[in-house]
Amino acid sequence: MSARAFALGVPVLIVGAGAAGLVAALAAREAGAEVLVLERDALPRGSTALSAGLVPAAGTAWQAAAGIADSPAAFAADIMKKAKCEPDPALVKTVTEAVGPALDWLGAAHGLPFSVVDNFHYPGHSSLRMHGLPSRSGEELIDRLRQAAEAAEVDILTDAHVTTLIAAPDGRVRGVVAVRPDGSEEAIGCEALILACNGYGGNKALVAEHIPQMADALYFGHPGNQGDAILWGAALGAAVRDLGGHQGHGSVAHPAGILVTWASVMEGGFQVNTAGARFSNEADGYSEQAARVLAQPGGIAWTIFDARIAAIAAQFEDYRNAVAAGAIVEGDTLEALAAAAHLPADALAATAAAVDAAKRGTAPDPHGRDFAGVAPLAPPFRAVRVTGALFHTQGGLAVDGAARVLRADGTALPNLYAAGGAACGVSGRSAAGYLSGNGLLTAVALGRLAGRAAAG
Ligand SMILES: Cc1cc2nc3c(=O)[nH]c(=O)nc-3n(C[C@H](O)[C@H](O)[C@H](O)COP(=O)(O)OP(=O)(O)OC[C@H]3O[C@@H](n4cnc5c(N)ncnc54)[C@H](O)[C@@H]3O)c2cc1C
Repeated sequence: MSARAFALGVPVLIVGAGAAGLVAALAAREAGAEVLVLERDALPRGSTALSAGLVPAAGTAWQAAAGIADSPAAFAADIMKKAKCEPDPALVKTVTEAVGPALDWLGAAHGLPFSVVDNFHYPGHSSLRMHGLPSRSGEELIDRLRQAAEAAEVDILTDAHVTTLIAAPDGRVRGVVAVRPDGSEEAIGCEALILACNGYGGNKALVAEHIPQMADALYFGHPGNQGDAILWGAALGAAVRDLGGHQGHGSVAHPAGILVTWASVMEGGFQVNTAGARFSNEADGYSEQAARVLAQPGGIAWTIFDARIAAIAAQFEDYRNAVAAGAIVEGDTLEALAAAAHLPADALAATAAAVDAAKRGTAPDPHGRDFAGVAPLAPPFRAVRVTGALFHTQGGLAVDGAARVLRADGTALPNLYAAGGAACGVSGRSAAGYLSGNGLLTAVALGRLAGRAAAG
């Protein structure tokens, strides 16, 4: 199809109206470009709306106001440590340097009232650097971004499912075809295209191929994220990297299907299988814990904690919803808790005694967890039945420091950009490399870079 066949053409076209797409649109608009965002859903939500909306950033105005010392270099070191130096160091440098100014800009120019989460230390982060909106919800994040985009006169065409990418033989993208709910097709031309349609978590076949251990896991992200970006990019000769990388979570209440904060574990709780036995070092992280939970009988674990920890967890809306849904069971004694959870009482008591001994330092933890300074559990006790879930994929299109999509030989495609889950992230090749917040980190940081560069 030639460029003249397009009924409509825009300088900057964006596929996907999640955090990455909307941040890119705001940046491109600010740089003076006319922008059109195509979104397959009737209302922009994406995985962004399902998330806690927490964005890690170093050196922000909010950190300064709270007296928190931090730097992009320290943040980058934390990312590399968690992912065992697997991510591209240049990309890690790019996003850790870009995300702080991007959040400051979203606050100052677009009125997003972030603040630093200062009452829970996210595992693996050496500073308090998780930023959230007042409700600490992704729904608020996507709603405020959409409102900002509307105020900036960004055009968002919803119910527009992009199915085809049209490009010249040299890889220059000419435009896309979008299908509308009545089945009609619209061909829209562009000078630059930003792929912000996330990864492939909603595509069972691709998950089975690249993350086989999660093939049968519950997918907790947005179902519309079908891997279109990697499929289109690969067809143009783009490099696709780290497809095994993903964010899992080992604490989704089952069958309620509600995320139970990892504070339930990090503050002193532990996980047992249905035989009442521990099976891992839970403090490694919630992401890798997903596959470990799924490997237990029935793909089920119980998180054992107490009323003190429940009070900390109650700051999160999801936890309160889990309580309201009856997912949290209680017991005045461990025996009563075991009865309520249908766990073998003797085995649970022995496991709890071993954890207490590790906390008191009288015996090493057989799973290698460092319990130093963590209080023993005290009655009344709590337990929640959980399973492991896939939240989103972290592998994707290789990009440079301006979010331009790269070919396998390292050269950039002429006018194609990727941000958020469409781009390869900074979590390496497995679930274990995911540091809390890596998802929205690349959505916000690469989104802004892509929008600016595409407008230029
Ligand atoms: C339960 C949960 C909790 C999470 N919590 C956090 C957190 O607190 N912090 C964090 O950093 N990360 C978190 N994440 C990860 C985070 O949500 C994602 O990394 C982030 O939202 C990705 O943003 P995105 O814009 O790339 O994708 P999305 O927000 O998923 O947006 C992609 C959009 O593209 C649209 N789309 C897809 N294909 C097409 C197509 N062909 N045509 C048109 N439109 C299309 C989709 O409908 C969607 O609206 C969480 C994820 C989950 C599931």
